[in-house]
Amino acid sequence: MKILIANWKMHPDNINEAINLAKGSDFENVIICPPTSFIQGAGEVLTRAGLGAQNLEFSGTGDVDAKELKSLGVTHVIIGHSDRRKNHNETNEIVAKKVSLALSEGLVPVICVGETKEERDAGKKMEVVNDQVVKALSEVKGGRVILAYEPVWSISTNIADGEEVITPEEAYEVILFIKQIVEEVYQNLSRNVIYVYGGSVNSENVKEFLEFKEVGGALVGSASLSSSEFSKMIKLIN
Ligand code: PGA
Repeated sequence: MKILIANWKMHPDNINEAINLAKGSDFENVIICPPTSFIQGAGEVLTRAGLGAQNLEFSGTGDVDAKELKSLGVTHVIIGHSDRRKNHNETNEIVAKKVSLALSEGLVPVICVGETKEERDAGKKMEVVNDQVVKALSEVKGGRVILAYEPVWSISTNIADGEEVITPEEAYEVILFIKQIVEEVYQNLSRNVIYVYGGSVNSENVKEFLEFKEVGGALVGSASLSSSEFSKMIKLIN
């Protein structure tokens, strides 16, 4: 079974729309990650899908911690998304700390890794990804983990306008590389890791990205904001 993790980012605009979107996306093998303010409302209407958060914090006023998320029924938490690495200076060390905090509360971290366009053009793709994976898992003793390969340059692209997106083959190659790192460096963990791809996945391309057995699912942003598009995707893959 392949999974779809819906990253709603800062959408929709209000709780009523969030509840409707959650109802329309309530399928098995799906994890819905609403913005923090909508987690409870969305969670209350889900009967089949799991509930995730987009981040957790640990420093103080205004932050949301793992225990609070857990008490709302959250089981998964996205950590190290490129938005947070870029806009909140989330370093690999901060990502590692968040990963271990999530695991210590029994939450499954969905760890995002991936190179920027500049890093790719400079031939540093594998080096960057290796560093992100090794550091993110450095404090992990055990537990289930999801590793999401999200090449930053392939996120939120406008495919219809011909913007460049990674090919399923290249994404697969990097996912195999990530799997190999985990198997070499974190052998005790490797049985409990699921590898997913994220970046401009939609109903047109989801089958191609997920056709490889090692690719366990997708992290979906914009295409998860329409329940008809999202339900089409889930039907296509399972
Ligand atoms: P996208 O977002 O599907 O809109 O590219 C994916 C993500 O940012 O997780």
